[in-house]
Amino acid sequence: MKSVFFPILFLIVTLSLPAESKDVAKKKKEPVSSSSNYFVKKDEKNFSLVLEARRFGRGEAVFFRLTPKNKKWINESFKAFWMGKEIFLTKQGDSFISFFGISPDTAPGPMTLEIQSKILFVKRGTKQYQIILEPTKFQVIKKQSIVVDNKFVVKELPKETLDFIKECKEAKEAAFGKISGLQFSDQFRNPLESIYITSKFYVRRDYNNKIGRPHGGVDFRGKIGTPIFAIQDGTVVLARKMYYEGNFTILDHGNKIFSFYMHQDEIGVKVGDKVKKGQEIGKVGTTGMSTGPHLHLGAKIADTLIDPLSLIALSEITEPK
Ligand SMILES: [Zn+2]
Repeated sequence: MKSVFFPILFLIVTLSLPAESKDVAKKKKEPVSSSSNYFVKKDEKNFSLVLEARRFGRGEAVFFRLTPKNKKWINESFKAFWMGKEIFLTKQGDSFISFFGISPDTAPGPMTLEIQSKILFVKRGTKQYQIILEPTKFQVIKKQSIVVDNKFVVKELPKETLDFIKECKEAKEAAFGKISGLQFSDQFRNPLESIYITSKFYVRRDYNNKIGRPHGGVDFRGKIGTPIFAIQDGTVVLARKMYYEGNFTILDHGNKIFSFYMHQDEIGVKVGDKVKKGQEIGKVGTTGMSTGPHLHLGAKIADTLIDPLSLIALSEITEPK
């Protein structure tokens, strides 16, 4: 039960506004939602702000909704920055919504969200909020030695293999470099019908007695041939065989939000296809650098690797009635 350890999460207004006081983020209590996520809700004079995250911790996705009190203001210019980097704002009804990621490598301490608007903040044109990062310890598996085919660990690879690896990397970078408008308007879903997680996000594993890099996604158990579903509406930006990832698909969901699916037995889509959430896009396999049949699901927001389960957990995406 995660409710036992209630996180210390403060939202502090950093401007010198004397009336503001510290707010503690509260778990949503409304019975309509079964979500155990954390919410930051600010009701300001000119607007309301909602932030939702499974936890405000490293490797987590955050959902943002800003609603100006005057409906006409939706057509004014708004900008928002997370840790100094501009985030994409998309109009949804009378609000602006956005998604951003807390990098798994974020240092402890306060994280800054800045909103820029001449209409909301007439004097200064900007306002900053600070959110204290909740501590997260990613698992390190030291004793388990995974036997991987030696072709993935030997240092000197033949030139044609190195060329193929380089070409794969470039194709991946080009796919993740795509920018499109937001392609969805409701919650994400799981990639398989039956969910059993065999390896969590950012676990460090031991490959042939060498500590490997952090695990960049989540592994789901699945037999070869198990259907894989798109976790959200999107566009296929990569669908091909790769050296490490095996049969690999990347979906672009817009605003630099991507989901990706590794080690597939078969790919069921091609580049340029528009897919719907829940549509079958491939089958579970064990191609590429894989120790047995499973699906590795990854997710990125604006080049920040996040736990895909934190994206799937977001419950507030749908436009409020
Ligand atoms: Zn994996």
